[in-house]
Order: sequence, then C-alpha cells, then structure tokens
Amino acid sequence: MAKYIFITGGVVSSLGKGVAAASCGALLQSHGYKVHARKLDPYLNIDPGTMSPFQHGEVYVTDDGYETDLDLGYYERFLGIKLSRNDSVSGGRIYWDVLSAERRGDYLGKTVQMIPHVSDKIKEYITRPVDADFVICEIGGTVGDIEGKIFLESIRQLANDIGRRNVMFIHLTLAPYLEKSGELKTKPTQMSARNLLENGIQADMLIVRTPRELEEEERKKIGMFCNLPSENIISGIDVDNIYKIPMAYKVQNVFDIIANHFGLKKTDGDMHRFHKIEKYLSDKLPTVKIGMVGKYFDVPDAYKSLNEALFHAGIQNNVHINIKKIDSEKFSEDAVRDVDAILVPGGFGTRGIDGKIAAAKYARENKIPYMGICLGMQVAVIEFMRNVMGVKNADSSEFTDDCTPVIYIMSDHDAADMGGTLRLGSYPCVIKSGTLAEKVYSADLINERHRHRYEMDMNLESQIAKHGMIISGKSPDGKLPEIIELKDHPFFMAGQFHPEFQSSPYNGHPFFNAFVAAALKK
Ligand code: GLN
Repeated sequence: MAKYIFITGGVVSSLGKGVAAASCGALLQSHGYKVHARKLDPYLNIDPGTMSPFQHGEVYVTDDGYETDLDLGYYERFLGIKLSRNDSVSGGRIYWDVLSAERRGDYLGKTVQMIPHVSDKIKEYITRPVDADFVICEIGGTVGDIEGKIFLESIRQLANDIGRRNVMFIHLTLAPYLEKSGELKTKPTQMSARNLLENGIQADMLIVRTPRELEEEERKKIGMFCNLPSENIISGIDVDNIYKIPMAYKVQNVFDIIANHFGLKKTDGDMHRFHKIEKYLSDKLPTVKIGMVGKYFDVPDAYKSLNEALFHAGIQNNVHINIKKIDSEKFSEDAVRDVDAILVPGGFGTRGIDGKIAAAKYARENKIPYMGICLGMQVAVIEFMRNVMGVKNADSSEFTDDCTPVIYIMSDHDAADMGGTLRLGSYPCVIKSGTLAEKVYSADLINERHRHRYEMDMNLESQIAKHGMIISGKSPDGKLPEIIELKDHPFFMAGQFHPEFQSSPYNGHPFFNAFVAAALKK
C-alpha cells in the first residue's frame, strides 16, 4: 500500500506548494522510492481547462488530454512521471460526482451529506490505486478557506482510517521579515499550524518560507507552539532556481524527518541529478539568445513549460539560455537581428499573427534556426504558401474566412474524441526517414501532446515539397501533418504539438535539445 504525504499551505497563497511537493517527491526518489503525485483543488470549477490563463498561467496538458494547472507540470518534470485526469481533482468535480450519483439514485434515498458522502468521494480520489511507494498530494488553497474545510476533514479521516504512520502532513507557511525592527515574525506560522489543528490535523513538519535561514531559537519557538521538535521546522529560503530546492531540503535532513515518520531506513541517497543542475547554474558558459515571438508575456507563467524546456535544453548543451521576449504585435526585423534562434510558441486568435508570420519569414530567409510550436508551425506554413508558393491570400480559417485556407478545422475529426473542440493530449506521429525530424528524435514513431483546433491541409504535401518544405511527421493514418521542416536550411522545424510538456530537467527533450544545439552552432 502506498503511503501518503499531504502538503497544505497557510498564512498566504502562492508559497510554492507545488514546487515544495515536487521537491519532497524528488528527494524520496533520490533515496530509491517510487513516487506519484496528485493535486486536489477545492475550488468549484469542474476542471482548470475553463479557467482564465490570465489568472492561472499556462494551461498544462496531460497525456490523456486533461487540461490542468501548471503544478502538474512541476510534478511531471521533477519526478519524471506521467499524470492523468485522476491526479488533478477539483472540488467542483467531487460535488459533480456526488450530485450525479444522487440524481441516479445511487444513495438509495439516504440524506446526502458532506460527511460521509463528499468526504468519501475525496478519499476515493486520493487513494485510487497507483504503482508507487508514496503519493504526494497537494491540497490547493490556504488553510482557513471555506471551500477547503471538507478536504482537510477528508485527509484527517484518511490518517485515522489507514493509520497515522502511513500519512504525513507537511505544512507550508510564511515568516515575514519586518525591516523596521529587523525581526523575522513567527506568529503567522504559529496561527496557521493552530488553524490546521482546529481541523484535527497535527502538522508533522513545517516548511517556513523566509528570506533568511531560521535561527535555532526561532525554530524552537515555532516548534514549542506547534507541538514539534525544532528539527522538523525547515527553512524554505528563496532560491534563484527551483531545482536547488531538493538539495536545500536534503541538507536540512528532510529525508530523515520523513524516514523517521514512516519508519524507513535512513540512507544517503543519490543527489547527482541535482548536483549536475547546480553545477550547470554556477558554471561560466557561453550564452545563446533565443528570440521568442509571442503575445502572452504580461501573464506571469504563461510560457512556463516552454521556458523550462529551453532551460533543460541549455543544461544538455552546456550553454546558458537568454530568452528575448518579442511582442508579436510590435514585431520588426530589428527585434530579431541579434538573436541566435527564433521560436514561435503556441497561441490562439488573430492578435499578433502578422508579427509571427514575419518572424518565420525572417528565420527562413536568413537561415536562422527556427522552432515552431503548434501555432508556430501554422504560421510557418502560411508564410511559405504566401511568399514561396505565391498564394498571396493563404491563411488559417481561424483568422479569416476570406482566404485560401491552408490551415482549417478538419471535418472528419470526431469532436467527442477531441475533448469538445480541441485536439487534446498525446497522439502518435510517424516520422519520415531521412529527415531532420528523424535525426532530432532518433526514432520513427513518437508521441507528443496536443492542444489545438486547426490542422494543416495535407493536400499541400506534394506542392510544397517541390519548393523545399517537407512534411516529416504525420499521424499514423497519414491524414494529419504533425511536423514540417525546410530542406535547405540549417534548422527549420515545427510541430503541431507541444513538446514542452514532455521536457525533463534530467534529459531535456530531443526537439529542444536539437534547437538549442542549432542556436549554439549559429
Ligand atoms: N490556434 C491554433 C489552433 O487552435 C493553435 C493552437 C496552439 O498553438 N496551441 O489550432
């Protein structure tokens, strides 16, 4: 049976529970344990797919096509695992399940109540069988939130159901620093742990976000108020890179604390994965400048996975990455004159399209390495049709009806199969031999995640091939173009999918690794 580690947060939101959870999981992995991760979000939306990216940052997509928030991305990246729709569960979905069951008559006329019906449903999601020694489960929101109460109640019950030594509660708080008095204040942390206790949950470890290391006296004081030995109070100091956190926990004996709680053997663990990243961060290395021509730059974290994937590829290539953010609405060739490579990321809607098309044109004509992601592939095709093939009104039907549509919605797509209207999740792609794509992936069949509505017209294949653009990846039935590339160009490749969702800090991702290598060569 898996053991459970719950991560809750208090005092304020945005303390980085996702990264803390992922880091604890990575630490356990480094000691040889198999780890799975889950997130419970108390809010009432049925899933995060409908939530504004302006509030929540990027929409992350799992293999099985679930649109989730970016914490699932941290879990997958740190832990190198694949998660699914059952690993990201909202309050809305729990209530939906319970109310649907009530309408079906499943409760046989009983009074349907928060306890046990909602709490049982929450426990059912938490304990869905997985092949892992540990399930790290983050509870979204902040202790004290009204909608979070039933979630705390459920994890309290679970500890009672399966045994207190099979469940560990880690609570993340904040110790603000008062400039005037030069003091770190521990009171909010005390109050937050007490708030948790009011819900019947004794924290087993506290991670206190602070601008500086907690002193022994401060840890003793917090421990005294929160029923914990001072060793179990960890300093969560701000770091300049999230991959330093597992080591920061390791040196504060977080593994030993977890091992003590569960009665595990204390081992040294193997932290080489993180040493390698720390070395990369501190090494003096050359830098490549990647021009990213996008439009969601004012949304914090809108390009989270993409930035991560470039960083990972930097590690693999031993080069530091400098991302130049170029607003596609204000694009001019001057903006890309000093970059080593151009990346056009995914996007929706007409705004900024001309700038992206111009960026693809510049990269093609000036032989600058180009990577197109989803929309970035579509604009490369539009640009090629207009400026090489001479089809002046070539466009996507997403942007105008008055055009020769080279990108459009395929009518033979089964909408139900596509999660409503978007093609979502992992799809296979067959790679043509002798192409750049084959060199990049060293494979003839790959799987990549999708999140888009429009597709490139497969009928263009023979025409564009005559002029040097080849479709080097296709769906196995041959109907959907998945990868395009240019023949007489050092590196011009674009995919209809989002490779950034599968990049790992430990190995990078073949497409990004090759793109950064091409930038370096340039
Ligand atoms: N807007 C385009 C489509 O729906 C591209 C989407 C994307 O880049 N993710 O097909």
